[in-house]
Amino acid sequence: MTEPLLRVRGLKKHFPIKRGIIPKVVGHVKAVDGIDIDVMPGQAVGLVGESGCGKTTAGRCILKLIQPTAGEIVFDGQPVHAFDRAQMTGLRKRMQIIFQDPFSSLNPRRTVYDTLAEPLQLHGICKTTDELRVEVRRLLGRVGLDPDYLDRYPHEFSGGQRQRIGIARALAPRPDFIVCDEAVSALDVSVQAQILNLLADLRRDLGLSYLFIAHDLAVVKHLCDTVAVMYLGRIAEMGPTKALFEDPKHPYTRALLSAVPSPHPGRRKQRIALKGDVPTPIDPPSGCRFHTRCPYATADCAKETPPLDRVGDHHVAACIRIEEIRKEDAAAAAAAGSAEASH
Ligand code: SF4
Repeated sequence: MTEPLLRVRGLKKHFPIKRGIIPKVVGHVKAVDGIDIDVMPGQAVGLVGESGCGKTTAGRCILKLIQPTAGEIVFDGQPVHAFDRAQMTGLRKRMQIIFQDPFSSLNPRRTVYDTLAEPLQLHGICKTTDELRVEVRRLLGRVGLDPDYLDRYPHEFSGGQRQRIGIARALAPRPDFIVCDEAVSALDVSVQAQILNLLADLRRDLGLSYLFIAHDLAVVKHLCDTVAVMYLGRIAEMGPTKALFEDPKHPYTRALLSAVPSPHPGRRKQRIALKGDVPTPIDPPSGCRFHTRCPYATADCAKETPPLDRVGDHHVAACIRIEEIRKEDAAAAAAAGSAEASH
């Protein structure tokens, strides 16, 4: 069996909270609290959840842009978690990131040529000015921009075009793995679709692997093969995209999916409203972290931390009541059906 390109085990990132005149650590923000993810060669894995669930922190830890607190990150057999800055420089060209905000991620004082030439020089891909210009033009064409735009500045482009430049910058070192961190969320819906199509084409043509971080489940549906749903620093459910969308097991995934608009206006889903706000990751709830908001919670949910149990083929969910919830829902549907029939 093929080995994963990226293998993450027990990843944690706890940010210390310091207080006082002589700063003392008084607690920790448990942004990521023990997650496991595999990304196979050529695979796109979605990492979704509400804002503050830890998904962006997880992506940055995986690329070692920030230092994880604990856990293993193995990329193509290499223990990235143990690498120092110099060792990471060698690997950096293979692991790239596309940022959320195409407006702030580009330097307004640098032309497109300057922006794209830098990684090409840094990673020794082009040596001469002639080679650089040819490669920058090729990259612009690859992301659907006119190669003659190379001497323009970021303010001369639309949001979608700037994100294409961000994608070209990530492609420049010829990576095999890219973290797309909310790569389309700052864009209009129609532009989002164009960028998602471009990312899908690049993946197919270049054999890229993605970790696609998003707060919107609808965005990952067409691009990703596998989706992991995060809640308060942990994975609540992970599985093949089709299974997760058609038969979500975890109440949190079900609530998120119920908020995704249906493409079929006639088939309206019942919206599952969640109680309250996301609790603080400084002092997360005991047991199942979702119990303070879960419509199916019982007293036991606050006592036990649910493990990620197998619920289908390559499909896992962290909930101790999945079977009971299925029966409760079936009974409720049967009761609703017989009430309708008697009218
Ligand atoms: Fe809800 Fe309990 Fe399942 Fe957590 S373990 S998702 S609180 S039913």
